[in-house]
Amino acid sequence: MEGKIGVLEKLKKNSILATDIASQFWCELQMELNYIHGKEYTKAMAGGAKVHKALEKEAHVAIEAEPQGYADFLYKEAYENYLAYKSLNEKGIGREIKVYGSINGFKVSGKIDELKVKDGKVVIVETKTKSLNAKLDGSNVKEIKETTMRTHKVQIMVYKKLLEDLWKREYTYQNFYTSYGIGKMLLSEKFLKQLELLSIPEEMRNLNAIYGLMFEQLYKIPQVSDTLIISYVDRATGEEFASVAVEYNKDDFDKTLKDIMGYWLGERTARPVTREENWKCNWCKFFGNECKVWST
Ligand code: SF4
Repeated sequence: MEGKIGVLEKLKKNSILATDIASQFWCELQMELNYIHGKEYTKAMAGGAKVHKALEKEAHVAIEAEPQGYADFLYKEAYENYLAYKSLNEKGIGREIKVYGSINGFKVSGKIDELKVKDGKVVIVETKTKSLNAKLDGSNVKEIKETTMRTHKVQIMVYKKLLEDLWKREYTYQNFYTSYGIGKMLLSEKFLKQLELLSIPEEMRNLNAIYGLMFEQLYKIPQVSDTLIISYVDRATGEEFASVAVEYNKDDFDKTLKDIMGYWLGERTARPVTREENWKCNWCKFFGNECKVWST
């Protein structure tokens, strides 16, 4: 077996994304091959990104500073997160919030589409886009298959775990600081100049200050609800056509995570789809090439 570092190295990664974990529930082997051989950027992904960008704009204004390096990028992310949590605390809604954490010692992160306050609790909302244009013979285009929904459910549960760990101070700024090597990072002169032009006060123009403000707002948000919402939106119009409530159970999800992390820890190799679900292979670019599990 490859061991913990081996898997990340093989995939040329240094952290795990919530979407990686979700993809493991579609086909773990496909997720791995996508990293090794490169992922295609599809029209559907472009359409989804457009809807997400429009939703983000509705909730807050992103800062118009151009990061020159990783430190600048982290600053911009923290600033936008700070605004999003502030919006959640003041207006009851915040969008496109980056969450960080640690699972089995791995850096894990993700971007939550929306947080909103309902009945005194914070509800996580994940928006998924679907094309309703194509009328499929006899089938309901608005129907979402359980196999697809399973990946969405896992993704939103990872968000719940990360956000709750942050809120409960089980993953603090100190953890983030150490894990991301913040102490050694400096913002670029060009980026600092842009922050000055945006009238961001001087005392806010460093990573410690902005993460301090972000965590301050984060600790003010109400408790995170166990009811998670997946909102299905028409890719063309941006209109919601279905909303699915998912109940989070910590013990059950911890068991699921244990199995998921077995792959990242190198305790087992990537699993292909099962025989019952090998219809997925028809849409997989690796079918019959890099993956011959169901092609012989
Ligand atoms: S061909 Fe099938 S089993 Fe192989 S990676 Fe693709 S989806 Fe998975």
